[in-house]
Amino acid sequence: MGQPFHTAVRDFLDGRIWLRRHTPFPKDIIDRHIQEGFIQTIPGIQTNTTVLNQTHHTCNRCENNDPTRFTTFHCAKCEGTCTYCRKCLKMGRISSCTELILWRGEPVSFSIQHALAWQGTLTSSQQQAADDMIDSTNKGRSHLIHAVCGSGKTEMLFPPIHELLLAGKRVCLAAPRVDVILELEPRLKAAFPETSIEALYGGTELTKQAAQLVLATTHQLYRFRHTFDAVFVDEADAFPYTADQTLRQAVQKAAKPGTPVHYVTATPSEELLSTMKKTGSISTINRRYHGYPLPVPRYETLWNYEKQIKKGKLPQKLIVWTSARLKKREPFLLFFHHIGLMEQALPLLQALDGRIRSVHAAHPDRKEHVQALRNEQLPGLLTTTILERGITIPNIQVAVVGAEQKIFNKGALIQIGGRVGRSVNFPAGDFVLFHNGITYAMDDAKREIERLNEGGIGK
Ligand SMILES: [Zn+2]
Ligand SMILES: [Zn+2]
Repeated sequence: MGQPFHTAVRDFLDGRIWLRRHTPFPKDIIDRHIQEGFIQTIPGIQTNTTVLNQTHHTCNRCENNDPTRFTTFHCAKCEGTCTYCRKCLKMGRISSCTELILWRGEPVSFSIQHALAWQGTLTSSQQQAADDMIDSTNKGRSHLIHAVCGSGKTEMLFPPIHELLLAGKRVCLAAPRVDVILELEPRLKAAFPETSIEALYGGTELTKQAAQLVLATTHQLYRFRHTFDAVFVDEADAFPYTADQTLRQAVQKAAKPGTPVHYVTATPSEELLSTMKKTGSISTINRRYHGYPLPVPRYETLWNYEKQIKKGKLPQKLIVWTSARLKKREPFLLFFHHIGLMEQALPLLQALDGRIRSVHAAHPDRKEHVQALRNEQLPGLLTTTILERGITIPNIQVAVVGAEQKIFNKGALIQIGGRVGRSVNFPAGDFVLFHNGITYAMDDAKREIERLNEGGIGK
């Protein structure tokens, strides 16, 4: 006996909150499911009028209710006054006359057969953190793993994720940055070969399956509602200052009410730390999985580097540093605070080796260039802070050009240094801060790395 609904429609919609006009199904099929009560429709924007005749808007997709983040306009579509949400605009415009749909039929039931194919072993402190996270999950409590860069964060998540999958639960692993998702996807697919896994980020093709393990950039979570039995957030602090609130809203909405949201990061914000101290629990890991210390930054002055680069002259110290990497065939990353300056420096560095490339957030070949560096087809990359985390390349050497710039705060510098020495075969490497004056952030980052290396716990 068949189902009274299309299972493909259910598999796609269950857990999602979606635009009625933009489903991957024919309109008449969606209409019929609405008529028969399998799909519920709700308005995109909820508008209420108070007794004082003030209007209040709430976006039903992202739950934004900040009056400054809505725009009211004359809408050609509904030929009236319409309001749209600017907060989730990137995901397609939601306005008063937009209809959102939710699955209300029988839910998808997920598999309880899941192999964990990862062959490695956790160190005792990794195992402890994994056990703590399982314990917190069972208690419905949020958990933070505060672990230094290169401590094997992803592997610590395998046991708690596996436990949930074996119980037929639906799990989300989210990160603010697409690079982190791209790096996680092959690792999770290798670790859980029997599990339906989907990676969602801007520009991915829509699939119609109901993946049990969803990897997603946090923005994509606006399209889910009360879906997951646990959400793990990797690199929760990836957008300093603004991440916390936006992230928490999107994540909270995607998690089923009362289910835990877990965090893993090397550089938690003060806000996250204090929240977790109050309402969750924390595991701290201050050793890399291979037991070697974190690379301590060294300082090198690079006076007036901006002026020199703008004049078409590469500062001597950068020539020496880059030439040494090329000669020793060590892959390298050169971090810049500004795309314009980086693009001016690029041809100057290409004079040393024509294969050197640059990447930034909107660079069309960003994925390919990073892969080429990994495959040893490129000797090195110039990059903005976009590659400060989520990237692991054996024997990578790292320099920051203009470490005094504001964007290189303590967390960013710790993350950048965290790229170095991650592999057991190459547990050390150069981490140099070229600067035009030493900042508190530089000293704070250095002090924290030294404290961690001495066995003290991170602040
Ligand atoms: Zn919205
Ligand atoms: Zn309208």
